[in-house]
Amino acid sequence: MTDLNVFEDAVARVERIGTAAGVAAEVIDALRQPKAVLTVDLPVRMDDGSTRHFLGYRCRYNDVLGPTKGGIRFHPDVNLEEVQALALWMSIKCAVVGIPFGGAKGGVIVHPKDLSRLELERLSRAYMRALADFVGPMIDIPAPDVYTNARIMGWMVDEYEIITRSKAPAVITGKPIALGGSLGRDEATGRGAFIVIQEFAKRKGLDPTQTRVALQGFGNAGYHVARLLDGAGYPIVAVSDSKGGIYSDTGFNIESLFQHKQDTRKLQGVYYDGANCELVDHQIISNEELLELDVDLLIPAALEGVITPENVDRIKAPIIAEVANGPIAGEVDQRLRERGTIVLPDVLTNAGGVTVSYFEWVQNLQSYSWTLEEVRARLYDILSRAFDDIWTIYQCDGGSIRDAAYTVALRRIAEAIESHGTYAFFSGD
Ligand code: NAD
Repeated sequence: MTDLNVFEDAVARVERIGTAAGVAAEVIDALRQPKAVLTVDLPVRMDDGSTRHFLGYRCRYNDVLGPTKGGIRFHPDVNLEEVQALALWMSIKCAVVGIPFGGAKGGVIVHPKDLSRLELERLSRAYMRALADFVGPMIDIPAPDVYTNARIMGWMVDEYEIITRSKAPAVITGKPIALGGSLGRDEATGRGAFIVIQEFAKRKGLDPTQTRVALQGFGNAGYHVARLLDGAGYPIVAVSDSKGGIYSDTGFNIESLFQHKQDTRKLQGVYYDGANCELVDHQIISNEELLELDVDLLIPAALEGVITPENVDRIKAPIIAEVANGPIAGEVDQRLRERGTIVLPDVLTNAGGVTVSYFEWVQNLQSYSWTLEEVRARLYDILSRAFDDIWTIYQCDGGSIRDAAYTVALRRIAEAIESHGTYAFFSGD
């Protein structure tokens, strides 16, 4: 186990894969540090009249391919290293799917569940006030991430428009539909992951009904991928959220589980289908136990760093689809590869979210909205093409699918950097 933090780990991965793929040293240098980082103090009036100070960040990592793009996380564990790592991964992800964005990320150290709705609104607006000169439709475009949602994006776009005295829906994606959001954005990350899993299953001849799935994290991304996999016949035998998990040998009906979570705010309890309560034989498990289940497909869809040097040798699933960002650290990745575990990497598997965010931005700039069918069809086109590009390299180079995805991305970023001229051009080599 190295002492690298998550950001150093992310840079080391770029260095390793970029060098192996023959990417110029200057291009790798350009990705060693972020373009700009903003740290902000956010004073917020609490309901009891006191003022509480929150710490927030925004990192714009690399804008060579276009304005920077990335979500905003409200979570007690937010820290600068994590924000920078997530922003670097966003740069790679946008290049993997070939959309004209660079990477960014933002976060506030807060447990939003501790705030009232009014306090949450004041915090969201304070964050946008602090960021207003740092973001913009052609500069940096935030979106939702862990514990932020469409309503929060709506408050933020509203605050930005108050400050700039103009309508600017393209400054943020993942907005409510009524404020210029795109149809299909809410399900986009899960649908994208479903497309990637299906493309992989097609190439490997997997039978969905024989592919048992364990899912960690039942939020926006996790719920939608589970719903679509369930609909395609995959048995979803385990699901968890921050409070713990449940296991059923026969698999869960994801829609009724979702309804139950909405009604009770938790996963555990009597599993029911519509109005008819029925006790499905299920077992309460911990989040750690879920990761170690003997299933065919493991989907971490919560937070990063959950597969660690400590638990990696107990992970039994032969396929892991990274719906969360960075659930597997670099060194652990290598261990999984040696064991023959296939990893569908985050920079491809969860790229559906940023892809439909791109569609939302395009629709906002054109003041024209697309139908849900158009959004879904274009998402399929982009992700299946990205999968093909990556698969071709994966088959030729024999590394991991992550290596192939990074190779695609780094070559695209390299092409843009090299268009300005590198040492090879200016030295006449
Ligand atoms: P969310 O806030 O909607 O859901 C997060 C889920 O994780 C919740 O169910 C929560 O209970 C659960 N969770 C939190 N801590 C946990 C823990 N310790 N163990 C198990 N579960 C835990 O967030 P989301 O938008 O679904 O994001 C989840 C992951 O997907 C993140 O890594 C995020 O960066 C990534 N992602 C999301 C999007 C998107 O569009 N929403 C896009 C790309 C990547």
